[in-house]
Amino acid sequence: MKKVLITGAAGFLGSHLCDKFIDEGYHVIGMDNLITGDLKNIQHLMPSERFEFHHHDVTKFVHVEGDLDYILHFASPASPIDYLKIPIQTLKVGSLGTHNLLGLAKAKNARILIASTSEVYGDPLVHPQNEEYYGNVNAIGPRGVYDEAKRFQESMTMAYHRFHGLETRIVRIFNTYGPRMRLNDGRVIPAFIGQALRGEDLTIFGDGLQTRSFCYIDDQIDGIFKLLMSDYVFPVNIGNPHEITIKEFAEEIIELTGTKQKIVHKELPQDDPKQRQPDISLAKKILNWEPKIGRKEGIKITYDYFKSLPIEELNKKEHKDFSEHNKK
Ligand code: UDP
Repeated sequence: MKKVLITGAAGFLGSHLCDKFIDEGYHVIGMDNLITGDLKNIQHLMPSERFEFHHHDVTKFVHVEGDLDYILHFASPASPIDYLKIPIQTLKVGSLGTHNLLGLAKAKNARILIASTSEVYGDPLVHPQNEEYYGNVNAIGPRGVYDEAKRFQESMTMAYHRFHGLETRIVRIFNTYGPRMRLNDGRVIPAFIGQALRGEDLTIFGDGLQTRSFCYIDDQIDGIFKLLMSDYVFPVNIGNPHEITIKEFAEEIIELTGTKQKIVHKELPQDDPKQRQPDISLAKKILNWEPKIGRKEGIKITYDYFKSLPIEELNKKEHKDFSEHNKK
């Protein structure tokens, strides 16, 4: 039986990846330090004999017994609010954590896929963003801790590929949403849906004319799986190219939820990208992949998920106290 290690297993993307690999018949080792992840995302997998959970921080030496066929490195805070609160951990998991996992992949002769991000393009001057674009990133701004960690991660991964001949894959993930997103991580989709469910006004940052393109989780997982199984070593964008302004998106949420609340404007965070849309020609060509689930359908499933959560979860303002984690 093939064995896969998934880091960030208790997070949004990581937990869906665990499901995918269990469904595909693999033995799955899920690893997470649970700073931003939540065990309830993988609770349903615990009874399976093909699933094991390792509570571990990948910025420390990573030890796994026996053989490994694949490693998927998905451990990282991934929302602007999180990486502002835990900037040092964010830098460490992208750099030191990636180094440890590349080393593990080399030792086990495993193929490794690294989760990169559209943030490597920064506030892009090329639109839509294709993989050739080098990006426009402010290294020392608040988002720099995430953006530069991910750029370093890509660089380190290519060096392991070129120097050690390691089998590596790099996915550049664009905004993705769906069930198990953290309700209070500050990301726009859980923010708007949470506000609508609690009867609060919807908070648009800035004028709302900035754009994003939202990909449903099942499409994202499908793309990642296909990339891992392909033989392409350079970065590949995976996302949904259907672009929308945040203002239009807020109006869609108001219509879907039937909330009587209004839209209020708040200050735009520093270095918030003005536009973002993946060019997915490469993924179409080499993976024969493109998203299948439209925003209306995906948002409805996501809304139903948030609506089904216990009321205490809905009203919880913040998940955890992160302050300790920057010191470690
Ligand atoms: N945003 C917003 N209101 C919110 C949360 C986010 O208007 O309550 C905006 C944010 O400024 C950004 C966009 O929505 O322009 C997407 O934000 P998110 O944090 O989801 O992801 P990003 O793509 O910026 O990493």
